[in-house]
Amino acid sequence: MLSIAVIGGGAAGMAAALAAASRGAAVSVFERQARVGRKLSVTGNGRCNLTNLHASPEHYHGEETGFPLPALRRMDAAGTLEFFRGLGLLTAAEPDGRVYPLSNTAGSVVDVLRYALEAAGVRVETGCEVRSVQREKGGFRILTAAGPHPADRAVVACGGLAGERFGGTDLGYRLLKGLGHSCTPLGQGLVQLRSDSPFCRSLKGIRADARAQVSAGGALLEEAEGEVQFTEYGLSGPLIFELSRSALSVPGAAVTLDLVRALSEEELRELLLARSRSTPALPLEDVFVGTVQNRIGRVLVRACGLDLQRAVSSLTGAEAALLARKAKSFSFSVTGGMGMPNAQVTVGGVRTSEFDPETLESRLCPGLYACGEVLDVDGDCGGYNLQWAWSSGALAGASAAEEGHA
Ligand SMILES: Cc1cc2nc3c(=O)[nH]c(=O)nc-3n(C[C@H](O)[C@H](O)[C@H](O)COP(=O)(O)OP(=O)(O)OC[C@H]3O[C@@H](n4cnc5c(N)ncnc54)[C@H](O)[C@@H]3O)c2cc1C
Repeated sequence: MLSIAVIGGGAAGMAAALAAASRGAAVSVFERQARVGRKLSVTGNGRCNLTNLHASPEHYHGEETGFPLPALRRMDAAGTLEFFRGLGLLTAAEPDGRVYPLSNTAGSVVDVLRYALEAAGVRVETGCEVRSVQREKGGFRILTAAGPHPADRAVVACGGLAGERFGGTDLGYRLLKGLGHSCTPLGQGLVQLRSDSPFCRSLKGIRADARAQVSAGGALLEEAEGEVQFTEYGLSGPLIFELSRSALSVPGAAVTLDLVRALSEEELRELLLARSRSTPALPLEDVFVGTVQNRIGRVLVRACGLDLQRAVSSLTGAEAALLARKAKSFSFSVTGGMGMPNAQVTVGGVRTSEFDPETLESRLCPGLYACGEVLDVDGDCGGYNLQWAWSSGALAGASAAEEGHA
């Protein structure tokens, strides 16, 4: 019977262990934290957005854009739902394709995986860090905190650097580098953005629906729509997470928000001028009332350098145009991300060209496999990263358990 050591008991590691065990291998999972699935238990704000019905290769990034395709083809979103249904987990999809457990609790996802590992006879060693993986004749010697462990095959599923509080670490990169692999530069992905705009602080706590454009040096890098959240340090919310990759890809980028998507600039200008006629005594600070939240309205007036206490009746056509332009294109310079501890995913990772995409076996070290975030694959916001963890984990585990491989 083939013995397989899975290093890391996160999403990818558990999927790999189950796939390998279901093919008859003797599987041991080594997890350095006190329990498996620690990061999984906090995903999706504690709800776990476990996949997305629209999961397809264009939602993934890395040096080799085609790399995730074979794994995603073997286990797509429907396959993931079937897998979890088989473990007894009921799920529900939201209109945008995001899938959550019906219990709305990430703990349910961790629990069904934990019970399945137990039922499959997988040995799970928690609180057990793997310090190095050494190649030996016909297999591997896994050096753990509790001593050495021999294995015919090894699957590295250590995750990435993001979300340090929940287990993000560079250990996986180090283990794989020790076996001859190399890494692309690592960066923060799906993260809040810092801005030195003086208006963030005034808008702190407000959530707004917006269209956002990321640009740098006059070039448009990306645009999207959704919810933005203003914070003391800058911008957050699903829309910002989605755009963070491109906003951090070049220095000096800016995020420009359209805060009144329902109207064109000209329509908004007309509306403001109509207000100056219909309610002439209104102070200028309330000129946007009914179109955006009051606090946003006041900030827009200030950002245009206009006196908040002036009567709306005094608004000139040029000033109305200025206000409308500001509301439709309110720009925030990006000074950085909120850091790897706050990031949801690591951009970059172990070079995928060093692995066979059809099996996830190392091209440099036969019998060694890698899956999940440790590889240079990162997905968009919306369940894509966990889908990659399930798909790549299942593929690595299944390949490792095949007698013919290695
Ligand atoms: C706050 C937060 C929310 C998120 N929400 C979502 C979401 O809703 N949907 C989504 O798709 N993605 C989400 N993500 C991203 C997603 O959680 C990760 O991409 C995914 O967990 C990666 O799976 P993985 O198995 O590769 O790594 P992990 O889940 O990080 O698991 C790796 C495991 O390996 C262990 N380990 C590392 N090194 C060693 C070692 N040397 N020895 C033993 N054990 C080791 C770690 O302790 C860890 O438990 C979120 C991330 C964060 C931080």
